[in-house]
Amino acid sequence: MNNLRPAYLELLESGQLAERARQAVELLAECVLCARQCRADRTGEGGGEGFCHSGRRARVSSYFPHHGEEVCLRGRHGSGTIFFSHCNLRCMFCQNYEISWGEEGQLVGPQELAAMMLHLQRAGCHNINFVTPSHVVPQILEALVLATEQGLNLPLVYNTGGYDSLETLRLLDGVVDIYMPDFKFWNPEVAKELAQAEDYPQIACEAIREMHRQVGDLVIDDQGLARRGLLVRHLVLPDRLAGTRQVMRFLAREVSKDTYVNIMAQYRPAGLARRFAGIDRSLTVDEYAEAIAIAREEGLWRFDRG
Ligand code: SF4
Repeated sequence: MNNLRPAYLELLESGQLAERARQAVELLAECVLCARQCRADRTGEGGGEGFCHSGRRARVSSYFPHHGEEVCLRGRHGSGTIFFSHCNLRCMFCQNYEISWGEEGQLVGPQELAAMMLHLQRAGCHNINFVTPSHVVPQILEALVLATEQGLNLPLVYNTGGYDSLETLRLLDGVVDIYMPDFKFWNPEVAKELAQAEDYPQIACEAIREMHRQVGDLVIDDQGLARRGLLVRHLVLPDRLAGTRQVMRFLAREVSKDTYVNIMAQYRPAGLARRFAGIDRSLTVDEYAEAIAIAREEGLWRFDRG
């Protein structure tokens, strides 16, 4: 199992990886890359007219071996995270507010992004972890062709807020090894107020079903490292605003009882959170304990507690 080969290497050899990149770049002309479906023109040097404010080139906030991710991703040498600036969701309580809402970070071309991946591989990281990738899938694919030609062979982690379009996810079939979506909210009204995305619950359900169809349940090798599959993150919000019961029920009944879930306890009011009743305080110990109990009651058994 340690030798499980990333599927994208086969796509490179057959020429399909470059074709996927080409198809993804076409989506930038009237951008429908993510579930916002803005139809903004992102082909020029400026760009940035869509909800995510992202243009033709990706903007990278930072890249480094991350030792704070899930144990099965960070291992001994870290997860090779590449944090993209901008975001297609922009939650009011975002803990990376400056990165997702602002213009922080450097614009990069395909060769620079490929060089970052190769640098992280040389540093001993166990995977390449694209953080907030939904609005830069074409840029990732273009760079991946170059990086793979130059020897990249690590599993790829797609670390997303979950507001992804099915069309874009299908371009990633056979490319992404580990899907790591958030499932943030179940209630459309909450999603509307906190992320301007009333359809988030429906989109996230469809996206997570598609991700699971592509990669299945999470496979962890005998070194304790994730190699392939689905890992869902769920940040428990105060006042049951995340809809933990319904999210866990959906995962257990409509995806798989073997879904690996990281139930996260670290909510604190960041970004614009203090303007909103309910999320203007941290999570309590009791609220978190209730979320863990709910996951068990709904039949899930593979979870991290973060
Ligand atoms: S990627 Fe950005 S511009 Fe494109 S549809 Fe999504 S939010 Fe809009």
